[in-house]
Amino acid sequence: MSATALILGLSGQDAAYLAKLLLEKGYKVYGGYRRGASLNLWRLQELGIADDVETVAIELLEYNNLLSVIEEIGPDEIYNLAAQSFVHASFGQPLFTGDVNALGVTRILEAIRAVSPEIRFYQASTSEMFGKVQAVPQTESTPFHPRSPYAVAKLYAHWITVNYREAYGMHASSGILFNHESPLRGLHFVTRKITAGLARIAHGELDVLELGNLDAKRDWGFAGDYVEGMWRMLQQDRADDYVLATGKSRSVRHFCERAAAAADMDIEWDGEGPSTRGIARKTGKAVIKTSPKFYRPAEVNELLGDPSKANAELGWTPKVSLDELVDMMMQSDLKRVGSGTLLL
Ligand code: NDP
Ligand code: GDP
Repeated sequence: MSATALILGLSGQDAAYLAKLLLEKGYKVYGGYRRGASLNLWRLQELGIADDVETVAIELLEYNNLLSVIEEIGPDEIYNLAAQSFVHASFGQPLFTGDVNALGVTRILEAIRAVSPEIRFYQASTSEMFGKVQAVPQTESTPFHPRSPYAVAKLYAHWITVNYREAYGMHASSGILFNHESPLRGLHFVTRKITAGLARIAHGELDVLELGNLDAKRDWGFAGDYVEGMWRMLQQDRADDYVLATGKSRSVRHFCERAAAAADMDIEWDGEGPSTRGIARKTGKAVIKTSPKFYRPAEVNELLGDPSKANAELGWTPKVSLDELVDMMMQSDLKRVGSGTLLL
């Protein structure tokens, strides 16, 4: 009999790639979405799997909702990818972020404990928990220092996952994932903001792209590679915590340069700090400028992960390089803008 998986956060980036992977492996896949005015499954549609996933309304703020859905479906595995996932927004909505990202995870774990503690659980933890980093590179044993309400809430979720594993022997794993991107990434995250913005500039739809701190560095990988790691964690005999990362860190500035080059729009930089501008060599026009609007009250300057444990124990390695990722995202957004299908 095939296994059943429940993915929470169905409308998000990672859920789309994970659902595709699990369907390919023969799982029956249920996807939990947050009920809103309309259900937008464009990511599943882009991957051609929208009709293959059973949708079910799930709200992380509602314990009874979680309990009854888990009881009804009886999944073997639950992947919690649902969250208020935008760091910048968490400064404006710290209470909501805490309720969903932190207490929401306790609600899921309590519901699992009530229905069947045998259900395997994956929690989407994040490199943002390292924040003001205490060591370079970061591993599973690096101390945490979160720098946003998002990261603080995720740290609670991380520890409550560890706690339910230790207290009740549950198969609950926490994947400490460094930033992972794709053509399906949300538009407010910096990588997709850059590729979509530059694609619009290349097609004459936008004059200039406004960004924040160009000197922040991230360890960026491809989301399609990272969902494989999530699945592998739940196939282990013993649940544990794993860092998934590429082991390479690059600046936002570097990402801009690579993306611009991929759009045939080489840029050079002019000015410093908040008055930096990216000038297109061919036209001499500023296509990137910085704005205080996109700076954060507290910044995470640089993240660099060490995925050695995941490599040794899960046999996991990222396959797509940053250059390949930038090209993939840039070509996809150029095509979307060209065909009028970029969803802003
Ligand atoms: P997305 O923002 O693309 O997806 C988040 C999903 O959570 C959306 O489907 C959203 O629904 C849903 N959601 C939000 N609030 C609730 C709620 N109250 N109840 C139910 N569902 C809710 O994130 P990603 O796919 O990029 O990331 C997946 C997970 O991994 C997230 O938890 C994120 O924090 C974490 N993570 C991501 C990293 C990355 O680089 N992508 C790095 C490390 C961790 P809606 O569409 O209605 O808003
Ligand atoms: P995060 O690592 O989860 O916060 O992912 P983001 O993609 O939102 O941000 C990555 C880094 O890019 C952070 O250090 C941001 O400060 C920086 N950044 C610079 N300009 C922007 C911008 O315009 N939007 C976003 N989202 N981030 C920006």
